[in-house]
Amino acid sequence: MNKERKLIIAGNWKMNKTVAEALDLVRSLKLELANVKEVDMVVCPPFTALEAVSKAILDSSLRLGAQNMSEQNFGAFTGEIAAGMLKEFSVRYVILGHSERRQYQKESNELISKKGLAAHGASLKPIICVGETLAEREGGQTEKVLESQVRGSLAGFSKEQMAETVVAYEPVWAIGTGKTATTAQAQETHAFIRGQLVKMFDETVARKVRIQYGGSVKPSNARELMSQPDVDGALVGGASLEARSFSDIIKNSI
Ligand code: PEP
Repeated sequence: MNKERKLIIAGNWKMNKTVAEALDLVRSLKLELANVKEVDMVVCPPFTALEAVSKAILDSSLRLGAQNMSEQNFGAFTGEIAAGMLKEFSVRYVILGHSERRQYQKESNELISKKGLAAHGASLKPIICVGETLAEREGGQTEKVLESQVRGSLAGFSKEQMAETVVAYEPVWAIGTGKTATTAQAQETHAFIRGQLVKMFDETVARKVRIQYGGSVKPSNARELMSQPDVDGALVGGASLEARSFSDIIKNSI
């Protein structure tokens, strides 16, 4: 597929996989994806499997991501993990502001932007998630919600930092539900988000930023979604837990 930006496809394993299960999965992924060069491929295991997976993927083109981190660099923050600690395991990417964290941990746009800045401070690339609920889409609020999430979650980023940031558009109603945005909805919304990046930064930066789609991506819909000009990859939940479905998503997107 001829794309303006290199595709980036990331698997968000959420709270799944013991160390042994994680190693099984990456061993299979390494075999399935050994020849893929066209896509940046990222796996995001739970914190407890980062070290083992980091070692297991050393000789592959898979890259490591984390699912969250603290906005603080160190100190008395029980249960938190800092960007510098992720760097110890050669983590390159960190998912921030996933809708599950916005919903269950009540993460705000302001907190997400602080985390993003802390990630950049440690040379980690943040994957910043945005997306509207079904009620917001049905109420005609999609653009208003996305504008405030994009502006709030990326507040304070320099142009250089923004160019190294990935945005994931994940309509909340499509996550884990089997419902996918139509390709037209995805393209229209991604173009809207890119337009916001033009306003906040500039055209050159906006053209560099990769915007992933997330929400029930599967092998059967990956190609069509990825063929849209402003869809630059995918953030995959459920289908990233099995080697066959995740690698088929990647291969079908090329
Ligand atoms: C996600 O949670 O980031 C996600 C996209 O999940 P799923 O692919 O299972 O809808």
